[in-house]
Amino acid sequence: MPFIFQTEISKLDQGSNCGNLSKWCFVFQLFINNEWQEAVSGKTFPTINPSTEEIICQVAEADKADVDKAVKAARNAFRLGSPWRRMDASDRGRLLYKLADAIERDSAYLAVSSYLMLQQSQTAFERIYCNLVFAVFRYYAGWADKWEGKTIPVDGDYFTYTRHEPVGVCGQLIPWNFPLVMQAWKLGPALATGNTVVMKVAEQTPLTALYVASLIKEVGFPEGVVNILPGMGPTAGAAIANHMDVDKVAFTGSTEVGHLIQQAAGNSNLKKVTLELGGKSPNIILSDANLENAVEQSHIGLFFNQGQCCCAGSRVFVQSDVYDEFVERSVARAERRVVGDPFDFKTEQGPQVDQEQFKKILGYISSGKREGAKLMCGGGVAADRGYFIQPTVFGDVQDNMIIAREEIFGPVMQIFKFKTLEEVITRANDTKYGLAASVFTTDIDKANYVSSGSQTTVWDQLHRLSPLSCFLLS
Ligand code: ADP
Repeated sequence: MPFIFQTEISKLDQGSNCGNLSKWCFVFQLFINNEWQEAVSGKTFPTINPSTEEIICQVAEADKADVDKAVKAARNAFRLGSPWRRMDASDRGRLLYKLADAIERDSAYLAVSSYLMLQQSQTAFERIYCNLVFAVFRYYAGWADKWEGKTIPVDGDYFTYTRHEPVGVCGQLIPWNFPLVMQAWKLGPALATGNTVVMKVAEQTPLTALYVASLIKEVGFPEGVVNILPGMGPTAGAAIANHMDVDKVAFTGSTEVGHLIQQAAGNSNLKKVTLELGGKSPNIILSDANLENAVEQSHIGLFFNQGQCCCAGSRVFVQSDVYDEFVERSVARAERRVVGDPFDFKTEQGPQVDQEQFKKILGYISSGKREGAKLMCGGGVAADRGYFIQPTVFGDVQDNMIIAREEIFGPVMQIFKFKTLEEVITRANDTKYGLAASVFTTDIDKANYVSSGSQTTVWDQLHRLSPLSCFLLS
């Protein structure tokens, strides 16, 4: 293993009660067939710390030739009679439980102490979501042997039944905004159901995925079942989407690239496709809502993870009679938001993931000002170095403005005024996205009326401060 990196531990140990971090080693190569490998081209690319703009390390860069190797390994692991194909479903579940246990064992390293922050700026508050990662693997572990077919009563002397079979080799392309959770959401169901995987992780955040790869090997998944490739989208990612021997591709990321993935499947072997794309989600505050709760939840719903969340409630519609008070309180809350060092537990907001996102968000803020939205707070850079942006709130936003229509993916809240339920339902649905929506009210009839008019699916969140805060999410 020529490419081993020892974490810089002194800062990480502070306050984290993590024991001896120096045992922690990382390999920054491709993970193919349970082996660490250099890229065929020998190329590497840097991983940048977004707080300091410094290079953390170089990572092997997969390209088409490496994708071919990984697909071959995954296909071989899926061959008839292979250890993975012969494995009992309950044993697949057991491996996933072991993986979850190993992630939990090392979660202090993964979550509190190091890599999320070094690599991706998750703040102290958000690090608790690392716990979700092993919970996801446990959830899917339980599914492995409960994946039942049907018997179907047909006319005549026939016995008709369905058996659920794995799809085969699954290509998986994940984004950078929740590197560990995205990886768990993709690997969990694919492995529980007996598939093999070639995963390309986002170029901005490859490191935690590679650490999980080392745990996959440690807990005993057979060779070739999981292959993890850091690399770029248009090269390694496109090679997976276009590959003739990949049976399915699962993609989470931008709508633009989602179109390319669908086209690649159509132009190659018509592989199955699942897409999870962008959002510009309406967050609707009715005048009877518990305002304190609505302000806080809307704040978190937008600013969580530096605003880098596909289901962020980025279009905040507020009924006219509580509009002024809501804006005033939301601005005060945004001004209180603590921006800074992600290692500091007081910090609520770290840097954006990279320079490209940083510049894009500042561009959207300029366009909001240019088009006449009212900048209520923030609007600029928050530190001398690193990709920090001030928590920003725009009021009096109009539906046709760029900041009202495009996904900003940053700490920028847009607030709109509305009068009637019918008006807000029509305006909320007037978007090319359809990912999520939420409504704050204490009246269940109004909540049901808004949710049944919304072109999204529904989740509910009951909050003790408010009899009904209803979240709708797809
Ligand atoms: P984001 O806007 O969140 O960066 P992207 O859609 O650009 O989202 O990226 C999500 C994932 O898709 C990343 O792993 C990225 O490398 C990959 N990707 C980007 N472009 C392509 C492409 N043309 N083909 C396949 N994968 C791609």
